[in-house]
Amino acid sequence: MKQVVVFLAVLCCVCEGVRFGQLCAGNPGNTKRGSDGPPYGSGHYGASRGSGTHRGLDIKCTDGQTVYAPFDVTIERRSVPYTDPAKAAINNGIQMRGENLCFKLFYIQPVKTSGSVRKGQKLGTLLPMQRVYPGITSHVHVQMCDSSDPTRYF
Ligand code: ZN
Repeated sequence: MKQVVVFLAVLCCVCEGVRFGQLCAGNPGNTKRGSDGPPYGSGHYGASRGSGTHRGLDIKCTDGQTVYAPFDVTIERRSVPYTDPAKAAINNGIQMRGENLCFKLFYIQPVKTSGSVRKGQKLGTLLPMQRVYPGITSHVHVQMCDSSDPTRYF
């Protein structure tokens, strides 16, 4: 019986692939940011951003809310999205690995920038996005280290 259970568990992982666990305390289903209209645009991967494109996926969150590790992860380093000093209030994040994926989470104040965090434990707190982008749907930005589309993992 135990062997059957293990076999099914393996099959399940192969079929369904990796899925991110809950990222933000107020968003148990990892609901994605839709369109906020101009000037903020949409939260999906590949959305237009001026002359460029959005290289990540935005998951709804609220300023100051707790952000959780979506898997057991190893934090590799601090990683920031901007060089513009006008955006300093939200210019923080971390790069980590878990479930054989390398990814970055932006707009969070991390509790640490190295070491391990278990799934569901606190990674940090969402920074005050409304201060920099008034009226936007506040969110965590998820970006794969190779800039591929993270949507398949949600
Ligand atoms: Zn984003």
